[in-house]
Amino acid sequence: MTWKVEVDERACVASGLCTGIAPDHFALEGRAATVKNPEIDPDDDVLDAAGGCPGMAISVTENGRDLLA
Ligand code: SF4
Repeated sequence: MTWKVEVDERACVASGLCTGIAPDHFALEGRAATVKNPEIDPDDDVLDAAGGCPGMAISVTENGRDLLA
């Protein structure tokens, strides 16, 4: 089981929340967060980061299914 993680750079407001919650998965070095690895093993920290993202910029899917829906 693999999750696909993406950040919409246009929606990211560079809050840094995702890097605080899941620093193994997100980095913030410029004006938008980036995903360190677009395909990951399931990790609840990533869901927490995505759910709390103020820009709703993070998507997490499994076989095309939106895990935040
Ligand atoms: S939590 Fe959302 S808005 Fe904040 S840095 Fe991460 S992707 Fe960007």
